[in-house]
Amino acid sequence: MPDSERVLLLGGTREAVELAAELTRAGHQVITSIAGRTREPREVAGEMRVGGFGGAEKMAQWIRDNHIEKVIDATHPFATQISANARRACTITDVPLDIRRRKPWPKMPADDWIEVADLKSAATTIPTRARVLLAIGSQHIQPFSSREDVDFFIRMVDPPQEPLNLTRHTLILGRPSKDWRNEAQLMSDNQITHVVCRNSGGAGAYGKIIAARELAIPVIIIKMPI
Ligand code: NAP
Repeated sequence: MPDSERVLLLGGTREAVELAAELTRAGHQVITSIAGRTREPREVAGEMRVGGFGGAEKMAQWIRDNHIEKVIDATHPFATQISANARRACTITDVPLDIRRRKPWPKMPADDWIEVADLKSAATTIPTRARVLLAIGSQHIQPFSSREDVDFFIRMVDPPQEPLNLTRHTLILGRPSKDWRNEAQLMSDNQITHVVCRNSGGAGAYGKIIAARELAIPVIIIKMPI
């Protein structure tokens, strides 16, 4: 990158926080944009803006108004709308777009994975009377509400704003641990029989995958969008 650029960094991920620090140290002016889904987002180096732009055209306008010279898409791989908007906004404004997309986790020989296309398939794949660690993000609980026979252990960063529409569930508040031993302890303590999660790649959420492997717990895993 040239000496000092004004960068819009589309974030919401651990990688974006690390990148903001790196670019700021290198002398760039970084504005990290987050959707504002968590109540206490991680601190970032440089500036931060919170909330949607109002679609691709409005993002393009924002890029112009803020004299942005480069956009970096370091968003979550399941956040496909913001990535599509960034592509369109950069085409409109002719500002370069650098896509830092995570690769999905590869399945290791000892992994017991059931790969599914979406949340609905994940919900129907869970065996009867399973005890499930549901690690999928708070907006995605609804498809599991029909499974009244299953005990769900739901990990969320913030407490839910409305009651969860699940018959049998336990809330576990907090972010995933990077250390797989903590994830294994959580699974053992709650006698988890299955993990349901998305293949979101990256190091931050991989602990549960290692823990499930070590404990020989099957993982119902939603494939990363292409
Ligand atoms: P999305 O479907 O890609 O985006 C929906 C809208 O949210 C966008 O059109 C945009 O609104 C706004 N938005 C999203 N990311 C933004 C950002 N970095 N800066 C400003 N606005 C942003 O993403 P999503 O609804 O947030 O989440 C989709 C999936 O990704 C979920 O499964 C979620 O769990 C996962 N995820 C998302 C994030 C995240 O930070 N977004 C983090 C972790 C996981 P406008 O059209 O109004 O600009």
